[in-house]
Amino acid sequence: MTATQDPKTATRRRIVLLGAPGSGKGTAAAWLAKKLGVPHLSTGDMLRAEIAAGSELGREVAAYTTSGRLVPDELVLRLVAARVAGDAAGGFVFDGFPRTVAQAESLDNLLRTRSMSLDLVLHLDVPQSAVEERITGRMGCPSCGKVYHATRMPPKKEGACDACSSVLQKRKDDNLQVLRERWRIYDEWGHRLVEFYRRQGAFSEIPADVTAEELYRLVWEAMAA
Ligand code: AMP
Repeated sequence: MTATQDPKTATRRRIVLLGAPGSGKGTAAAWLAKKLGVPHLSTGDMLRAEIAAGSELGREVAAYTTSGRLVPDELVLRLVAARVAGDAAGGFVFDGFPRTVAQAESLDNLLRTRSMSLDLVLHLDVPQSAVEERITGRMGCPSCGKVYHATRMPPKKEGACDACSSVLQKRKDDNLQVLRERWRIYDEWGHRLVEFYRRQGAFSEIPADVTAEELYRLVWEAMAA
């Protein structure tokens, strides 16, 4: 039986990826969502899109995202609820959401009102020391969202996206000062969130200080377990 025909991976459609900033959860979430054929819901990307579009919500959240502080739950939940009621009704891979136990409880409630629940929570575990180099070398495509790294996953042509040739950009919050603030916040909230989901079951821990290919393999193994 191939992995795609495995009964567990065939029914698991509502996934949360947890992990500290730079743990590789964005890369893993994009890969997994594509493989499952469901939307990749990165609340960070959604917030950045609102900021880029100059919407009212975007103006409200800009100061939080550039400093690394958490955006108020109510604003994030508004974005999430719209997607779960829309294109993500049949499944999703969340990345960067929930960030706190309060958000996790709100997500449970939101899903319950639609007679849904999470199928699996994956926690990508990476030591902080491994992350600084990852984050400071990270670049992304503003058009199609593909993520690169200066040394680990460089584009074929320097500074240009392989998929759509757009000029790659660094995120404003991908610098050491903001990264340390994001880690501090993760330290405050992330562990409680991991324990919350560990107690609920349908939870898997992945040692994620590995190459992207190995990470995909471990994620798929956890999906089938
Ligand atoms: P990320 O792309 O997940 O690293 O998120 C970038 C920034 O967006 C964070 O530092 C927060 O300011 C904000 N953000 C993203 N997701 C959330 C969330 N679930 N709750 C609150 N703030 C968030």
